[in-house]
Amino acid sequence: MLEDKYKHRGIGLRKQLSKLLKEKGIQNAEVLRAIENVPRHLFLDSSFIERAYEDIAHPIGAGQTISRPHTVAFQTELLNLKSGEKVLEIGTGSGYQTSVLLEMGAKVYTIERQKELFDKTKIFLPSIGYSAKFFYGDGYKGIPVFAPYDKIIITAGGPIIPDALLQQLKIGGRLVIPLGTKVQIMTLIEKLAEKQFEKTEYGEFKFVPLLENKAWKV
Ligand code: SAH
Repeated sequence: MLEDKYKHRGIGLRKQLSKLLKEKGIQNAEVLRAIENVPRHLFLDSSFIERAYEDIAHPIGAGQTISRPHTVAFQTELLNLKSGEKVLEIGTGSGYQTSVLLEMGAKVYTIERQKELFDKTKIFLPSIGYSAKFFYGDGYKGIPVFAPYDKIIITAGGPIIPDALLQQLKIGGRLVIPLGTKVQIMTLIEKLAEKQFEKTEYGEFKFVPLLENKAWKV
C-alpha cells in the first residue's frame, strides 16, 4: 500500500478530480476512492506537476502517455473489480493505472514493451509503496504461466483482441480493450464459456497504439 508520507499532499486536488469524474459518469465508489488515493503528481515529469489533477493525458517518455484520469476510471469501472482478484495489465507505462488497480486490492501482473518505461516504473512503484509483478515483453502474448486471470486490461489501442489474452481469461472474467487504430471503441469482453464471449461497446476513446513486436519475449 501507498506509504503514509505520500498520502496527504494533493489530497484536496484529488478529491476535486474524483468529484469531476463522478459528474462525468463514473459511479463505482471504489474506483473514485482509488483515484482520491493515488498521488498522480508523482507519476509525471516535474514540468507537468501543476496540471497533474486535471482530466488530461500527459507525456511519460518513450513517446507514450499517461491516460486521462477519466479513461483510467472508465476502464477500471468496466472491469468490475473485487479485492483479491488477479489482474493482467498490458501497457504498464507510468504505473498509474497499475496503482489504481492495486488500491482496489487487486494482484497485478503488468507488461511493458518499452524498456525505458519498464525499468523506471519497476523501481518507482515499490519506492512509493505499491507492489506488482512487472514483466518486460510483448503483451500480445500475455503471461501464460500465471494464467488464468480474473480480469485483463489493455491500456493501448489495438486493431484486434490478441487470442492469447482471451485464452488466459478465466471463465466468468472480463477483458477491457480500446479497439481500433485511429480512434478506439472501448470494448468489454465477458468470457461466458471456453469459446463463448460476449462483447459490449462503450463509445470512442483515444489511445497510443498497442504494438506487436515478435522480437520481444515475456
Ligand atoms: N497504463 C499506462 C498507460 C501507458 S500508455 C499508465 O497509466 O501510464 C500505453 C502503454 O502500452 C505504453 O507504455 C506502451 O509502450 C505500452 N504498450 C504498447 N503496446 C504494448 C505491447 N504489445 N505490450 C506491452 N506494452 C505495450
